[in-house]
Amino acid sequence: MDHFDWRGGALHAEDVDLAEIAAAVGTPFYCYSTATLERHVRVFDEALAGMPHLVCYAMKANSNLAVLRVVIRAGAGCDVVSGGELRRALAAGCPAEKIVFSGVGKTAEEIALALDAGIRQFNVESEPELVEIDRIAREKGLRAPVALRVNPDVDAKTHAKISTGKAEDKFGIPISRARAIYAAAGRMAGIAVVGIDVHIGSQITTLEPYEAAFLKVRELALALRQDGHDIRRLDLGGGLGIPYRRANEAPPLPFDYGEVVRRTVGDLGCEIEVEPGRLIVGNAGVLVSRVIYRKSGEGRDFLILDAAMNDLIRPAMYDAWHDVVPLRQPAPGAAVAPVDLVGPVCESGDTFARQRELPHLEAGDLVAFRSAGAYGAVMSSEYNSRPLIPEVLVSGSRFDVVRPRPTYDEMLARERIPDWLA
Ligand SMILES: *Cc1c(COP(=O)(O)O)cnc(C)c1O
Repeated sequence: MDHFDWRGGALHAEDVDLAEIAAAVGTPFYCYSTATLERHVRVFDEALAGMPHLVCYAMKANSNLAVLRVVIRAGAGCDVVSGGELRRALAAGCPAEKIVFSGVGKTAEEIALALDAGIRQFNVESEPELVEIDRIAREKGLRAPVALRVNPDVDAKTHAKISTGKAEDKFGIPISRARAIYAAAGRMAGIAVVGIDVHIGSQITTLEPYEAAFLKVRELALALRQDGHDIRRLDLGGGLGIPYRRANEAPPLPFDYGEVVRRTVGDLGCEIEVEPGRLIVGNAGVLVSRVIYRKSGEGRDFLILDAAMNDLIRPAMYDAWHDVVPLRQPAPGAAVAPVDLVGPVCESGDTFARQRELPHLEAGDLVAFRSAGAYGAVMSSEYNSRPLIPEVLVSGSRFDVVRPRPTYDEMLARERIPDWLA
């Protein structure tokens, strides 16, 4: 559920008319709903009720400081994957003891930063990384709290670009080698083993891969305890999918996911950590864009929008579907016809939707791409020298720009022409 609804024929974010925001900040822009973000954190909390747990928001899905602040105030910690994200999490007010650090390529500088900050846990993805964290921690006279990310070799049945839990994926250590590497970790003076980590992919729409992965984690936890390790946390990763096509998709609910957690590892006495990203923020955001032209092609009509693939790359990158809704509610029974929605960028990949059934739209009309809160603004670029688009946060009847649109001068001022080209 989210808080984007028609009211009096106009699409609203909570109590704010999106057309009013368009008039104030110009198009295109991203708009996020505070109440939806809060609700999604709460839903995850409730799904894990009765088990000690921490929801660590995977902030790579949307790392805007204001979005982070909302999620942190709702009680979540953060899952970070870079030094930049760690700095953002701290700047947004996340207590260090609620930050876990994931990612396959942590540099020495990032590891030192995280140790100095006193983060909750490193999710370690390889033996060389473990050795490096041990070295840096010993230099500082610290012990790094560590969970090893194991690769359970399960197929998450999701898009190939966002599958992470198969043996051929670059993530984690093979579960078959886990005991040996934990044994090595146990001998390192700079390492304190605190648990096990697993994350099998993103936009996962069935519970079976989770069940299979968590059962493997369970078995490993029992074996590691026998080996003498203090396995007190299980980080079960993120990846739960959201309905991008509201009309015909119903992925499992967090409640059902929670039941799988309870059933598979709930009796181990471990603190459960989860790292949802998309589920927290995906449906809490929309991308609003204006039709620049309506163009009739050979048996095909195009709506050319002022948003493009540089603003929202998911359709081009993952063949993703986003529901498209006009900001002005069509009359009941209004005729629909297929149309292609494209951006102005000079490549065919700049297509948001093909042959989408929509009511008639003309130049000047506004549309919203739904479910655009996750992996939208964070993956945007200035390709074609299109300045990054603004992000707006709504709360009740208030809205505020939480990342302004840079001016063209600001965009150009980041670059330099060397003296020798003067
Ligand atoms: C991307 C990622 C997540 C979040 O995935 P979602 O599909 O957005 O829930 C969680 N943990 C790790 C380690 C990740 O890389």
